[in-house]
This record gives sequence, C-alpha cells and structure tokens, in this order.
Amino acid sequence: MNRDTLLELLQTLSNAHGTSGDEIEVRRALRPYLEGHVDSLRVDAMGNLIAHKKGTGTQALRVLITAHTDEVGMMVVDHTGDGGLKVETSGSIDARLLPGLEVRVGKEALPGIIGLKAIHRIDDENVTAIDQLTVDIGARDRDEARELAPIGTRMTFATTAHPLGRLFAGKSFDDRAGCTALVALLQGAPLPFDLFGVFTVQEEVGLRGARVAGYTVAPDVAFVLEGTIADDLPKEEEGSPTSQVGKGPVITVMDRSYIADPRVVRYLVQVAEAAGIPYQFKQPGIGGTDAGTIHLTREGVPSITVAIPCRYIHGPISLLDPQDLEHTIALLRAALEQLTPEVIRRS
Ligand SMILES: [Zn+2]
Repeated sequence: MNRDTLLELLQTLSNAHGTSGDEIEVRRALRPYLEGHVDSLRVDAMGNLIAHKKGTGTQALRVLITAHTDEVGMMVVDHTGDGGLKVETSGSIDARLLPGLEVRVGKEALPGIIGLKAIHRIDDENVTAIDQLTVDIGARDRDEARELAPIGTRMTFATTAHPLGRLFAGKSFDDRAGCTALVALLQGAPLPFDLFGVFTVQEEVGLRGARVAGYTVAPDVAFVLEGTIADDLPKEEEGSPTSQVGKGPVITVMDRSYIADPRVVRYLVQVAEAAGIPYQFKQPGIGGTDAGTIHLTREGVPSITVAIPCRYIHGPISLLDPQDLEHTIALLRAALEQLTPEVIRRS
C-alpha cells in the first residue's frame, strides 16, 4: 500500500465513530478494504470482525494478529432540567481536556458541545471532573434531551483527520492506526501459514473482545497491533518517554496486562535489525493491551504487542508519523514471512 492509500484508509477509520460495545460503524468502514483480500470474513457474537487468510501451508502454524476497533468516548447517563446531558466516560479520558470540545452524539451524529460553568464564575481550580460537565445539544428541556439522546447514547470527539506538517492528525489513532496496519497486512500476499486478522471490540473497557477472539482462533502465536503513548512532547525534565514519534515501531516487553514472550521479542528485534527497520522499546509497566487476555487463552499463547507511537492518545486529537506506520507494517510483514514453529518451540 503506498503512503497516500495508507493515509486515506487511516483517515476513513479515524473519522468513523465507535465507542466500546458500539463498533459497528468501524466494521462497516473496514469491510470494503478486506473483501477480495481474505478467504472469509465474519462477525462473532461480541462484534469482533474475524478475517481468515489462507496460507500456502508450508509452515504448520496458526497466527493471530489483532487491532481493536473501539475508541474512548462518553455515554449519556442522565439529563438535566434545562436540556443538558450528563455523561460518563467509556475508557479512560482526562476530564481536563473536555470543556469546550465539540462532540458527535448518537447514531445521527448530532453536534454537541461539552459545557462547563463560565470561567468568569469559577473560583475553584479543580473544576474538571466528569460529573461537573454537561453536554449541550441545544435541547429546550429534559424531555427533548431525553428524546434526542436517551440514556445509553454514545458520543465521540468531532475531530476530522488531516495532515499536520510531516505528521498526521486525527482522533482515535488508538487503535485505528493498528487497524490500518492490520488491513495492509491482510491485503498482502498469502503467508506460509493461515493468518487470522481480528478487529476486536471493547479493548478500552477491559480487553474483552480479544478474550473471546483468542479462544475462537486458538493461535500458536499472537501479535497485537496498537497505537501507543508517545509522550515525547512536551518533554519531561527527567525520565525517558513511554515512546517517541518518528523512532519506529514500539515493542512492548511488559505492560500492566502481560509480559511479552521473550522468544518473540528476540525474534522481532532480529528481524528488524536484519531488515534495517528502526524500532524502540516501550517503557515497561505502562498501559494494557489485548495481549493481556490473549496470552492467557486456553493453554497459553506466546504474544507480543507492537505499536505505532501516537502523541496525545485518549484525547480529542492525536498525532502520528506516517513513517512509523509504514515501518510497523514492514516489520510485521518481514516477521511473518520468516516465522517458523522453531521461534516458539519450548525446550
Ligand atoms: Zn489501544
């Protein structure tokens, strides 16, 4: 996939709305890019989109690659007498980022504004807890608000993806960047083994879709594609960043949800060095990914997370370097092409 096509796909996926448990719009956006490139495509009871691409059969392996389709967002939990919406976050969002932002509410993508008491009337500095915010959709009163956005209505940031200097900006790169890379891999030539590409659901609320997908596919080895924290700007005085934009795919040795299989870590490093693809290690111990549930499936699955570094994730707009996306695809492609059962054989 050339860069223009890749960024067009990223843009399409980034602009789609899909909070945890309501990922249908993302699945719809993905389908046309997968049909004709895979042997079967189905949706399970949870909403995971499972693509199966048959291999040439020269290696006795079943390989799973996942990327999650859900993004962080909000859900309507109550209405105020003056027509406002009270919300809860779905997935972790820093409430300090929210006041004044535009959102898209419900299936009709109604425009809404996240309201806060006017700055002129605020004395307290700690004013940005989620329960102090009200989303304004222009409703006259409680009844109209209830009718337009009943309890359970989802909302996401209203951001539209666009280039930004050498970088690319948009919402939900965590994990639509991973979804983009997975599509590119599935569009490639068949591998020596059967490849299962699963676009998972409900990652942001506890790695839930991946738990089921891991069981269904029962893979020998799993790769999880992510968009991860690049806190390289603004720079901290001390300590190294979680990952850095422009420094290549981010290999997670350990996070709060899992410890990567050391054989697979060594293998990926070897492949990257032989192919001259840059890579970096994520600061261990931060965050969690679908590998957290997949590695515990059945009798255990050697798993690893490889991520595209993204600034300002879980906020209204994040940034990535298209080159990191390309390098992540190239690393995975090379790793898959050379993968043999020996890589994960236990002695
Ligand atoms: Zn993620």
